[in-house]
Amino acid sequence: MIKGYQKELSNIYEKLRTTEQQNLKKRRDEISKKHPEIIELDTKIQKFCLNLSLSILKGTLTETDLNNLRDTITNLRARKYELLVSKGYSQEYLNLYYHCHKCKDNGFIGTGNSKCSCYKNKLIKLYYKDSDLEDAVKDNNFNNFDINLYSSHKIADDKYSPRRNMENILETVKGNYIPNFNNHDNNLLFYGNSGTGKTFLSWCISKDLLDAGFLVVYKTSDELIKGLRDIRFNNNSALEELIINCDLLIIDDLGAEQITEFSATELFTLINKKILKKKKMLISTNLSLPMISKLYSERIYSRLVGNFKLCKFYADDIRIQINLKRK
Ligand SMILES: [Zn+2]
Repeated sequence: MIKGYQKELSNIYEKLRTTEQQNLKKRRDEISKKHPEIIELDTKIQKFCLNLSLSILKGTLTETDLNNLRDTITNLRARKYELLVSKGYSQEYLNLYYHCHKCKDNGFIGTGNSKCSCYKNKLIKLYYKDSDLEDAVKDNNFNNFDINLYSSHKIADDKYSPRRNMENILETVKGNYIPNFNNHDNNLLFYGNSGTGKTFLSWCISKDLLDAGFLVVYKTSDELIKGLRDIRFNNNSALEELIINCDLLIIDDLGAEQITEFSATELFTLINKKILKKKKMLISTNLSLPMISKLYSERIYSRLVGNFKLCKFYADDIRIQINLKRK
């Protein structure tokens, strides 16, 4: 996990606990004013509970006495609940509220400090927030992927029909890339004309991975270069950490950014660093492979061709472009 997230989560839990303690105090104050007898009863119960714990610790009471004390507490509690309900409150009104009963809003369970399921859910929420994908994947996901938009008629030069081609890509993605995401360091390069579904598919992949608890960060090439500039000149280390160490970095629309010596050098450094660190990338581009080699340095081209699985996107049908635009 990227450093920073752990701290952020522990702050979230601390805030939850503090807020609930304040809420409980407000409820107690309210009851104390309106029905002081209930608070008296509650204080009495707390005293008995403390006595019980101390007696168990010290071993000062016999088992029979302990059981009598337990019975007294149970009876007093029942009385308190009855009173609360008779005054129109829920019987839990004077209890501390937990958002998660399993970990009592600590995020961890037991002495082994194993993470609670709520911890993972909160982490996913944070990941979504930082991914820049929260809105995009609401509608753009596998539930809305329509293979029928791809024609089954073969286009002259291509080996497969657009549909068969897309089925092959989907098989790679859904059959291996996503389910085995933890066990490979495969990079993907989606290339082909605009309107053939590259961005859409990258969003579909993102949603599945985010929901599985992976940190996916999405940047258009333009945003990425701006980010790299911010890292280089303003020491934006939080952004650097995010871009370098996220589980998957998506660079959308490579070639749409203004290509300068700075951008090309920074891009190469980033791609190279991520390959060395085995941090996965998905790059999509409208450029053809020869155009990539023409517009970027030979070393970027060779990294892309040598270290990425190349997925060519194509479609001969205008419907696809219309439908994708509509989405
Ligand atoms: Zn929990």
